[in-house]
Amino acid sequence: MTDNLLTGLMMDDFQLTLTTLVERAERLSPTRPVVSRRPDGSLERTTMGDCVRRARRLAAALSALGVGIGERVATLLWNQAEHLELYYAVPLMGAVIHTLNPRLPPDDLTYIAAHAADRVIVVDESLLGVLESVGWAFKHVIVVSRSGAHPVGSLEYESLIASARALDWPPIGERRAAVMCYTSGTTGRPKGVVYSHRALVLHSLVAAMPDVHGISARDVILPAVPMFHVNAWGLPFTAALAGASIVLPGPRLDPVSILDLLESERVTFTAGVPTVWMSVLEALDAEPDRWDLSALQRVSLGGAALPVSLLEGLDRHGVTVVQGWGMTETSPVGTMCLLPSELDAAPRDAQHEYLARQGVPVPFVELRARDEDGELVPWDDRAMGELEVRGPWVVAGYHDGTDADKFTADGWFRTGDIVRIDPRGCIRICDRSKDLVKSGGEWISSVDLENRLMAHRSVAEAAVIAVPDDRWGERPLAAVVLRDGMQATPEELRRHLSIEFAKWQLPERIEFVRAIPRTATGKFKKTALREQFGSGLAA
Ligand code: AMP
Repeated sequence: MTDNLLTGLMMDDFQLTLTTLVERAERLSPTRPVVSRRPDGSLERTTMGDCVRRARRLAAALSALGVGIGERVATLLWNQAEHLELYYAVPLMGAVIHTLNPRLPPDDLTYIAAHAADRVIVVDESLLGVLESVGWAFKHVIVVSRSGAHPVGSLEYESLIASARALDWPPIGERRAAVMCYTSGTTGRPKGVVYSHRALVLHSLVAAMPDVHGISARDVILPAVPMFHVNAWGLPFTAALAGASIVLPGPRLDPVSILDLLESERVTFTAGVPTVWMSVLEALDAEPDRWDLSALQRVSLGGAALPVSLLEGLDRHGVTVVQGWGMTETSPVGTMCLLPSELDAAPRDAQHEYLARQGVPVPFVELRARDEDGELVPWDDRAMGELEVRGPWVVAGYHDGTDADKFTADGWFRTGDIVRIDPRGCIRICDRSKDLVKSGGEWISSVDLENRLMAHRSVAEAAVIAVPDDRWGERPLAAVVLRDGMQATPEELRRHLSIEFAKWQLPERIEFVRAIPRTATGKFKKTALREQFGSGLAA
């Protein structure tokens, strides 16, 4: 007989799969509302139970179309009920849901779909134009269509569900892939992150803790972060785990639509990027008495730095804001900043100074920072270094093994964020070593913009930096050196860029300079450019 005190086999080797979370919601909280706003503004009301029942039929239909274990089902959808059904159906049938970001340029979408080898795509009818620009032959295209009309050769979502019988979820192991998401690469090509069932279950569990999002069965969650951004920060899974209700805002994330939903659905918890909440604050300031937000307990902001003005502004309206830090590579929750009890009696300013930090690591996430010489920096709130993290929902490698240099030999992920860590373990992001601009929560590759600019016949050199922007957090600024005797206007350069870049990615500011400062090794010295232009004074 084996000695189980030595082998540690006293407990059930229970597999941590999303199946357990979703079946729990189906069985224990089937009447929980799922509210979805349609593009015409109308609200569709269903329940968690209905959502999972439809997910079972959807899974059977996908299976009949040949989607097998581990195969990718792509989505081009907004925050809508069908997306939630796919979030549950695809991983539970053993396949992998791959959420595509419709705002990416066609070239990136084509690369991503091909790299992930997506077999099927489910697309909202409002995004058929985006799908047309994707140069990848999906085996099947399934259209979510409110009128029932759909292009020749495609399948229609509702008829597929109507014609299928419910699938019994197959047993799957916890380390199986469940979801896939691509993140921007510094040199242009996006990198695939694959989330396992186990990672997402553990992430959901910790996300629900009081010092993280604080989600219970009494909550009504409105993910104001797109479901194509790191699984809407895992909220659809956290909702299933906790038995919470969910409100999906559809394609529109404008402030009035969000505020209307927060009020009408008595939302208790919402999350998103600061840009969206800057506009919400403007709307609240303009009409302070229009909305009743008495049900709202917490707004979790992340994805970009939280400006103190936003914190103070929302505070004035009685809205509690907490900030978290995370990445596509960290599922995403890595740190969370809630006020420690020692600061309860501190002046408001001191509290805000603390709350504007990115926070302490959540349970199971470990962090450290290393300086340029590779030495670990002390936790003294002064020394700066690149943040490294590890934990059960932190990637150990990208899909296809790309960018292996992001992982240290001893198993840590190098984030590219430059931080200070205080003695409490609370981080402050001070800079980014990765060459990217984050505008309104979406990435723009400065290296790609530079390469394209330098392909213009009048341009000798170009360097792109992020400059602070009140509305979008950051915007790209291009410093350009023209070739001797050559001319170009900013409009002409923007036109040249627009061949490859989406409109929102084009720099408003193109500054002509005589030379671009260089480091000792001959690289563009972006810190010097940031000093020159970063204050926004050189506009
Ligand atoms: P993504 O993979 O698109 O979610 O982007 C992750 C990156 O966004 C991080 O590496 C940071 O550079 C940035 N980021 C995320 N959260 C914050 C935050 N709270 N403050 C500042 N930057 C953040």
